[in-house]
Amino acid sequence: MEPKYIFVTGGVTSSLGKGIICSSLGLLLATRGLRVTIQKLDPYINVDPGTMNPYEHGEVYVTDDGAETDLDLGHYERFLGKPTSQDNNVTTGRIYYDVITKERQGVYLGQTVQVIPHITDEIKSRVKAIGESGRYDIVIVEIGGTVGDIEGLPYIEAMRQLRYDVGRNNTLSIHLTLVPYLKAAGELKTKPTQHSVKTIYELGMQPDILVCRAEVPLDYSIRRKIAQFCNVEIEDVVASLDARSIYEVPLLMREEGLDQRVIKKLQIPSAEPDLDNWIQFVQAVSNPEYRIRVALVGKYVDHQDAYMSIVESFRHAGAVNNCEVEIVWVSSDLLNEDNVEEKLEGVSGVLVAPGFGGRGIDGKLVAITHARVNKLPFLGICLGMQCAVIEFARNVCGWEDADSTEFNTDTAYPIVDLMLEQKNINDKGGTMRLGAYDCALEDNSHAGLAYGLRLISERHRHRYELNNRYLDELAAHGLRVTGRNPERDLVEIVEADDHPWFVGVQFHPELKSTVEKPHPLFVKFVEASKRHASESRQMEHLSAENQKKSCLK
Ligand code: GLN
Repeated sequence: MEPKYIFVTGGVTSSLGKGIICSSLGLLLATRGLRVTIQKLDPYINVDPGTMNPYEHGEVYVTDDGAETDLDLGHYERFLGKPTSQDNNVTTGRIYYDVITKERQGVYLGQTVQVIPHITDEIKSRVKAIGESGRYDIVIVEIGGTVGDIEGLPYIEAMRQLRYDVGRNNTLSIHLTLVPYLKAAGELKTKPTQHSVKTIYELGMQPDILVCRAEVPLDYSIRRKIAQFCNVEIEDVVASLDARSIYEVPLLMREEGLDQRVIKKLQIPSAEPDLDNWIQFVQAVSNPEYRIRVALVGKYVDHQDAYMSIVESFRHAGAVNNCEVEIVWVSSDLLNEDNVEEKLEGVSGVLVAPGFGGRGIDGKLVAITHARVNKLPFLGICLGMQCAVIEFARNVCGWEDADSTEFNTDTAYPIVDLMLEQKNINDKGGTMRLGAYDCALEDNSHAGLAYGLRLISERHRHRYELNNRYLDELAAHGLRVTGRNPERDLVEIVEADDHPWFVGVQFHPELKSTVEKPHPLFVKFVEASKRHASESRQMEHLSAENQKKSCLK
C-alpha cells in the first residue's frame, strides 16, 4: 500500500488539543493493525525548542536519538507506544538552516532561493522522507499554530502541493476548530468555524473532515449547518467534547466515527480497532480505589506544561497501583525550613523535578531533607538527583559547602561538575548530553528491582554529572550508586540505604512512560508512596460516588 498522509490543521484559537486529536486518531488507526506515525511541523524560527524557556514552550521532549522536540511528541509516544525521532519534529528554523546551508554550498546552482519553491520543497521532502521510508502505512502531519498565521503559510502551501504530488486519494485534510457556546444567547455559534474554513480555503486547501471542539454536544441542526457552510458531508462534522482525561479522547473519537470516516475516505482495508487494553486503562484511571498525594517540587509549578511527561507518568503509574495520584504543586522558590512541614503536609511522596540554574535550589534541598529525614519516598530527576546528592553531602557527610559548579564555581566540594566534554562548549543549542544511553543496574537495589533487568537504556538532557571523586565517601555514608553508564562510567542512579525508597536518576524516566508500558520507576515510587500513605493513615479510600465518571458507559 502506498503511504497515506493525513494533514491536521487548527483554526480559531490555539490550545484546541490538536496533538491529542492526532494521537487519538493515530491510536485508533494503529489498533486497526496499521503502521502509523505522527510528525509535528512547528512554524517557529528556533531550530528546536531546546533553547526555549519552559514558560514559552512547556516541556522539551527528548527522543532516543537525542532530538530536543515539541511536547506533542510525548503524547504521540504515550498513545502509540512507539518511539519517535528527530524526523518527527520539523521547525521553520531547521528548514531555513538547511536551505541556507545548501545555498552556501552552491546546491541551488545560481537560482534565486525563495519561500516557494525552495522552503516549501524542503518541507515536503521532510514529510515525504517519513512516508517513503517504507515503515509506515499512515503519516499524520500536525501543523502547529493556527491557520492564517503568517509563519504557517509555507506549511499550508507545502501541504496543498503535496496533495497533488502524492495523489489526492493518498491524502486527507482534517481541520480542528472551535464551536463556542454563548451563554447569553444560549446557543452554539458556528461562525468562527466558517471563518476558519474560509481562511484555509483561501490558501487552496479543502478540509475533508472537521473536528469541532465544543463544551456542549452538537445537535443535528448545528452539524448540518456546519456541513452546509463548510462544504463537507454531515458525517464529516465530528464533535470533540471536553473529556475528563486526555486518554478518553480516542474513545470519544471512536464514538463520533472519526476513524471510520478516515478509513473510508482513504480507502484503506483494515480491521475494526481493538481497544480492549486502552479501555481497561481508562477504566483504571477513572475508577481508582484510593487517592494519595505526592509533592512535585519545581520552579515552574505555575506553568504545569513544563512537567507534562511527569504528570502523565504519574497517571500511568497510578492506574497500575489502583490509585489516583494527586499532585501537590510546590514552588521551590517559596519553600524554606520554616514552611516545609506545612507545605508538604499530607503528602506521601516527594518528587524533585529537573531544571537548570540556581533559582529555587535552596527550596529543593529543604524538600529533600524533609523526605530523607521523614522517610518519605523520594524520586529526584536529573537536577533533582543532583540536588539529592548535594543535600546528602552537606547534611550527612557534613561537607557544608558541597555544591554543583552550575551554581557555585568556588565550592570546596564540587559534588556535581561539568562533564569533561562540556568544558569547551559555548553554543547552547543541541550541545548537552542528549538522548538514549545505557545504564547497568546493581542487583540489590530499588532500581534493579523495579526494572527486573541488568541493563537499561534511558534518555538524557544534561551538562553536569556526579563527580566520581566523591563516590566512595558518599557510599560509606549510605548513598550508593546503583546504576552506571558502562561506557563512560558516569553515575546514572543513586539510592539512600537507610530509607524505604530514596532514588535519584540522572536520566529522565518520564520520557519513556506510555499507557502500554508505565515506567517501572514511577510504578514503584507510587507503590512506595501508597505504602507510606497507608502506614501513616493518609490514604483516602474513594467511595463509589467519589470515583470519577468517565465516558465509558
Ligand atoms: N542543570 C542540570 C545539568 O545540566 C540538570 C539538567 C536537567 O535537570 N535536565 O546537568
